[in-house]
Amino acid sequence: MDILHNQLTNIQRHLAFVATAPINWICYVQVFSWTVALFESYLLLRQYPLYSKKEPPAALASHFGPGVFEKSQNYGKDKAKFALFSGLFKQVLDSSMLQFGFYSWSWGASGALIGKFGFGSEYQIIQSIVFVFTLFFLSSIPTLPLSVYATFVLEEKHGFNKTTPTLFVTDLLKGWALAFGLGAPFIAAFLYIFQWAGDRFVPWLMAFMISFQLVMVVLYPTVIQPLFNKLSPLADGNLRTRVEYLASKLKFPLKHLYEIDGSKRSSHSNAYFFGLPWAKHIVIFDTLIQQSKPEEVEAVLAHELGHWYHMHPTKMMAISQLHIFTILALFPAFLHAPPLLRSFGYPKAVAANPPTIVAFLLFQMILTPLEAFVSIGMNAVSRHYEYEADRFAVELQDQLREPSMRDMGERLGRALVALHVKNLSTVWVDWLYSAYHHSHPTLTERLKGLEAFQARREKKAM
Ligand SMILES: [Zn+2]
Repeated sequence: MDILHNQLTNIQRHLAFVATAPINWICYVQVFSWTVALFESYLLLRQYPLYSKKEPPAALASHFGPGVFEKSQNYGKDKAKFALFSGLFKQVLDSSMLQFGFYSWSWGASGALIGKFGFGSEYQIIQSIVFVFTLFFLSSIPTLPLSVYATFVLEEKHGFNKTTPTLFVTDLLKGWALAFGLGAPFIAAFLYIFQWAGDRFVPWLMAFMISFQLVMVVLYPTVIQPLFNKLSPLADGNLRTRVEYLASKLKFPLKHLYEIDGSKRSSHSNAYFFGLPWAKHIVIFDTLIQQSKPEEVEAVLAHELGHWYHMHPTKMMAISQLHIFTILALFPAFLHAPPLLRSFGYPKAVAANPPTIVAFLLFQMILTPLEAFVSIGMNAVSRHYEYEADRFAVELQDQLREPSMRDMGERLGRALVALHVKNLSTVWVDWLYSAYHHSHPTLTERLKGLEAFQARREKKAM
């Protein structure tokens, strides 16, 4: 522990200037956030002309029925226009909130509110919770029309929306209730650790974050997801037999196999697994089952089990712990920095003894450019894992000595094409746009990859 603390102290020494130097932080945040927002708009402008292409890539041409490619291009075009508008709208909103002192006003307003209930400024944790939810509600209201438009105009126009207005409102209220029910105790515990551990908070906070994530792994399927969707055991039949056989052959600890009513909100389709290492759940969207044949859904799950076999979720979680650790290791320098708060318009009295939550929020804003690079890196890792899982599906026949699985790669290819065509997913993708935004390789890349994996294994078998 002492070695860790010495290293952390070293980092703080390098960042000591934050506590004293009168840096114009608000200007930095404005410049960086506008740079990111304008770069994202630029990417959309690069991608946009590709939606005017009249023909799909040659490899996919045979999979599009008459008019379907045109539909997918129109859908892409509408989504891109919407993304461009909403991205800039949100940026203008965030930027104005920052410039006109919304964040310092919210802190004062939260203090005044709890004061009415007899809590003074010594109740920092209560004030922090009220502060976070004030920010959360007030900043989510102006963007609400955007999600109404996305659901009831954009998705509706292209035939995907299944959400009714009642469902939309109940989803929203449930989401808010959940954010409060989970968020309030989380913030309380988070801030309590700072109070209790002082400047030695890093390992304690890490331990807390990891435990929280593990608790969520248990709570999400049992408590949270049933609030929004119905999970029912997958009916007996061809698909169930196939999936159970596949899981038992791979010694995948399958506890429950569910079908989820994804069609309640949208006709987009998917499949995934989750759970603790010894008890996993597989969930298949009803839309996927309706759109593909059992042997194709099986291939999608072979790919998903490839993620499990190669421990991709665990590796991703390790990367994200490292990410959280880096953030926490840098944070102490910003924790006791009056000039930081002054720069964001906080009154002298508040800045003199910065509230942890305020310092953390401002620190997060300063990290925006770093986070953009982290997300590009994470996407690259995730794309690599997608190829690895595809390859796993192709080579499953050798691993399990199951000749009946020899066409797994082809089945997966067919399933991917069907998913893409049914979801009207974009087929022409600008490389820079894709590198920045996509956690999955494009369809054409994946089909090429599947072919290459197949060719490689045949060569090895000879
Ligand atoms: Zn995958």
